[in-house]
Amino acid sequence: MTVWLRVLIAVEMALSRLAPAAEDTPALARQRMVAEQLSGPGRNITNALVLRAMGKVPRHEFVPERLRSQAYRDCPLPIGHDQTISQPYIVAFMTEQLEPQPTDRVLEIGTGSGYQAAVLAELVANVYTVEIIEELARRAAADLKRLGYTNVDVRAGDGYKGWPEAAPFDAIIVTCAPEKVPPALIEQLKDGGRMIIPVGSRWDQELVLLRKQGGRLERQAVLPVLFVPMRGQSQRPEVAKPKAADVTPH
Ligand code: SAH
Repeated sequence: MTVWLRVLIAVEMALSRLAPAAEDTPALARQRMVAEQLSGPGRNITNALVLRAMGKVPRHEFVPERLRSQAYRDCPLPIGHDQTISQPYIVAFMTEQLEPQPTDRVLEIGTGSGYQAAVLAELVANVYTVEIIEELARRAAADLKRLGYTNVDVRAGDGYKGWPEAAPFDAIIVTCAPEKVPPALIEQLKDGGRMIIPVGSRWDQELVLLRKQGGRLERQAVLPVLFVPMRGQSQRPEVAKPKAADVTPH
């Protein structure tokens, strides 16, 4: 081979490496996402099964068509109704914190696009997921079915009350932020179970990991985050019960 030909091949190879992610196939973009955003320098996802699931689930199938070329970028993306699909790193981080086991039954509050549910479905036995916006719930259920996820049940409704009929759960993941942890979710967690949940006000939230251990709840703040607020009953103040003095007839 002439020197010139070698130079030409080397230049072509270098250029192909510089090509924008948009020109990658989804599978390539996904591998790059895992290597650079999840297990790469400065990132700390180490659970091999979580990394495998993130490398398998077709994230581009869960975003609006016009945003498909952006699906593997290091950021959240809009999915309509003022909601977002979380950043891949946050999905992987929360999943890893749950220590998912193959026999687990997991509850998710905030289905959104269904992407997080699909990642969990690769790792556990059953996923139950609740979404308050009916149109999003319907779309996620259809996408999950189309992609062959048969171990995910989607329900439209307010996740504040959890899913009592399917409780108790080995793990609970909440992807919208209430001001306080909803009591029903604590009740529906098995002893020994784990819950990961963003807690706080609109602009000041922390991802909290809860463990139920012998009836006690261990609480650990693991990461500052910014999720959409939990809507519905979580935002309504408790209806104050009238005090005895208030109801005394005059
Ligand atoms: N896990 C999603 C992203 C979640 S965005 C994904 O992988 O795409 C947060 C979602 O929580 C939004 O879709 C929002 O509508 C939903 N949500 C907000 N309050 C809720 C509630 N009380 N019950 C159930 N879902 C809720």
